[in-house]
Amino acid sequence: MTAETDAAPDLPFWKRKPLEAMSAEEWESLCDGCGRCCLVKLQDEDTEAIAYTDIGCQLLDDFGCHCRDYPNRQAQVPDCVRLTPEVVRTLAWLPPSCGYRLIAEGRDLYWWHPLVSGDRDTVHAAGVSVRGRVAALEDELPLEDFVDHMVRWPLRLPKGAASRRRKTRSA
Ligand code: SF4
Ligand code: SF4
Repeated sequence: MTAETDAAPDLPFWKRKPLEAMSAEEWESLCDGCGRCCLVKLQDEDTEAIAYTDIGCQLLDDFGCHCRDYPNRQAQVPDCVRLTPEVVRTLAWLPPSCGYRLIAEGRDLYWWHPLVSGDRDTVHAAGVSVRGRVAALEDELPLEDFVDHMVRWPLRLPKGAASRRRKTRSA
């Protein structure tokens, strides 16, 4: 999957276009709406290792799992990372389930991605989204408490989230 080809016009756009060739609408639709990247991350000052927490960004809607002010997100949250093809390829902390990361790595989207399922709720049903897993938003806790909220699950695929994809693909 390195370039769009006329030989496969029936393939969905994410299987035939490189990230750089996608329209703005296609690019935005690659986000599955999981909200994982909107969890606060902590960086170790010595090792520079990044750890996720189960604390949400101040703008995260922790039920809908989306940004409450997406168009103005960087004005409100200056360290919100704007994803571009180049950024996606260099960020080590994007979750393994992230649609951008999957396509950048030459992989396919999972069965629960809304582009595949046609349903924005499947990302929640599969247990991939942060719904029900956000302990607090960042403006609800003192900074010194953040370290107690470090979690590993945002960098893992939930059990069963991949297997139904295999069943679906082999059907
Ligand atoms: S981790 Fe990826 S798919 Fe999930 S909300 Fe962030 S950008 Fe979208
Ligand atoms: S500003 Fe919005 S998009 Fe950026 S991290 Fe916060 S909730 Fe997510």
